[in-house]
Amino acid sequence: MAGTMQIIEKTLRLGAHNYHPKEVVAERAEGAVVYDPEGRRYYDMLSAYSALNFGHRHPEIVAAAKDQLDKVTLTSRAFHNAVLGDFFEALCKVTGKNMVLPMNTGAEAVETALKTARRWGVDKKGVPDGRQEIIVCENNFHGRTISIISMSTDPLARRGFGPFTPGFKLIKYGDAAGLEAAITENTVAFLVEPIQGEAGVLIPPVGYLKAAREICSRQNILLIADEVQTGFARTGKMFACEHEGVEPDIYVLGKALGGGIMPVSAIAGDRDILDVFDPGSHGSTFGGNPLACAVAIKALEILERDNYAEMSAEKGAWFMDRLRQIKNGEIIDIRGKGLLVGVEFSTDAAPYVKELIGAGVLAKETHEHTIRFAPPIAISYEELAEACEIIEKALGKK
Ligand code: PMP
Repeated sequence: MAGTMQIIEKTLRLGAHNYHPKEVVAERAEGAVVYDPEGRRYYDMLSAYSALNFGHRHPEIVAAAKDQLDKVTLTSRAFHNAVLGDFFEALCKVTGKNMVLPMNTGAEAVETALKTARRWGVDKKGVPDGRQEIIVCENNFHGRTISIISMSTDPLARRGFGPFTPGFKLIKYGDAAGLEAAITENTVAFLVEPIQGEAGVLIPPVGYLKAAREICSRQNILLIADEVQTGFARTGKMFACEHEGVEPDIYVLGKALGGGIMPVSAIAGDRDILDVFDPGSHGSTFGGNPLACAVAIKALEILERDNYAEMSAEKGAWFMDRLRQIKNGEIIDIRGKGLLVGVEFSTDAAPYVKELIGAGVLAKETHEHTIRFAPPIAISYEELAEACEIIEKALGKK
């Protein structure tokens, strides 16, 4: 079998360099632990950007996938399949909504929410088609399609990719008054991450989402929560909006919905919003495929049955407490909710990440100064404690 360096060499030689991965090769994994081809053991403290809330290869989710593999895996939406309705039912139950539109990736679900809002604006609010405006926040991350990068403020994401999709208005994250001021008669929606994950685990001021909810309701615009990263117990609640008792009009969901096995995403909303779609107006060959549905149904079942939200809240509090004991003058902030935690440095975080990986903890910096820690929610306290010891040694230097 090829070793780490050979594998990396081939990958970099043949694949476009749209990522700059750390020099680790995952050869096999189980739960919170990853092994490389040389048999070195690592704790996965990134969890594929929160897609591995259940850990790697959760046995029940793997069993559900295998079971479905023996029945039917793909039909396209040209026909019905036997599990799609059950998937809708399960997702409606956890979101409290009564309609779902399934896709595959987070970006597709965001695109779906944008289309929903634009058409809702025309059909239900009376905004002239072509004039719809959607308000978004600075430093957002919603994905990589042309329309999504059209609302990005990250120059790296945008350079050379114009012309951009019009119809987005940027405001400051965390500023409810700014939202109110940005609304016009053509505004159809406000799209927001309840916590900005990619921007460095940025938590808005207390009351922000509640205020946004009130403004959106009063002004008759849709509140769209991008919970692709924060959803499904990551932040200590089933959805991060719950920290403020807020129910968005549309949930945008992905990552952990696929149980760490399949790309599964969706939007969930109520019928009077999602009924703007008619046949031919939107779709995806793979969206809602039976294999994806089987995996997602099992993932949703485990989330509720095993109280993942509570687990995430408790382990997250314990973890942050542990992190705060680390002595390092270059650590200027430790923040988070549940098991979505950011450690911010006054200096470049990359050398610390190198130390961490060398010592057996997989993590990655986001935006230079911050290391995001988001272990599988299923990680045991023993494993978390061992990971903390490694983290303390790697970060507790200066
Ligand atoms: N929205 C948010 C908040 C995300 O964090 C991400 C991925 N990091 C996406 C959307 C895009 O998801 P995907 O990579 O599956 O397209």
